Amino acid sequence: MYDFNRCKLCGKNTAEPKYKLKGMTLYACSQCDFHFIDALDTFPTDYPDKAISDKHRSFIESKLPQNRQQLEVDLKFVSSHIDLNEKRCLDIGTGVGMFAFLLKQAGADVSAIEPQQIFREFAQEKFQLELRPELADDTYWQENYAEYFDVVTIWDTLEHVNFPLETVQAAVKLLKPGGYLFLDTPSRDSLFYRSSEWSYQFSFGTRPLLLNKLYSPKPYCHKQLFTRKQLWWLLEKVGLQVVEQSPLHKANKKLVVACRKA
Ligand SMILES: [Zn+2]
Repeated sequence: MYDFNRCKLCGKNTAEPKYKLKGMTLYACSQCDFHFIDALDTFPTDYPDKAISDKHRSFIESKLPQNRQQLEVDLKFVSSHIDLNEKRCLDIGTGVGMFAFLLKQAGADVSAIEPQQIFREFAQEKFQLELRPELADDTYWQENYAEYFDVVTIWDTLEHVNFPLETVQAAVKLLKPGGYLFLDTPSRDSLFYRSSEWSYQFSFGTRPLLLNKLYSPKPYCHKQLFTRKQLWWLLEKVGLQVVEQSPLHKANKKLVVACRKA
């Protein structure tokens, strides 16, 4: 059982409950001001694997065009740093595999991680991609693929994982020296986040506005959100150098960065 008084970012025992939300408590660290909720996913036993149904298929299909549009912008950002042809790429938290598919189309040798069975089945059917269920810190990757990849991508995933620092640390171990890591995560620096906090405080917790939407204790949902300063601290801590914040994305909504391993 994890002690949520231990900050998931700086590791100090200085996190305290700050907001009581729907089915969860948001903790804030007095040292680094990191915000995270008191829920963790359990692997693999908590979520029995479900086979994909036609309902799942049509739901996923309906989201694909938008998904693709966004990931094509991400691909453009990646390609502005490195020519992907014949590069070894790992996409962590690939979902239905759209980005892995785009990497493959760009000529890359692609591996991808997705813990949800339904998404893996969809990726197999739609893109003929074999996604792996093992997470980045699993011995499957750490023993067989240490310093193997030229590129690691972590799109829309860091806010979902149990321990973001450890996830990026595990990813860095899989990168070759000089390899690139690209990631994005929603920004907590937005005005709507702060106004939700003010509303919570002035209403004595009765009107948390968006806080209940930005986090969720449900499996695979948002467990933490980063400010720019916190994300940069994390990246530096795991030995990455930030090369560029994406000029193709709106910085007030999403933090999108290119980093390099020393
Ligand atoms: Zn902290």
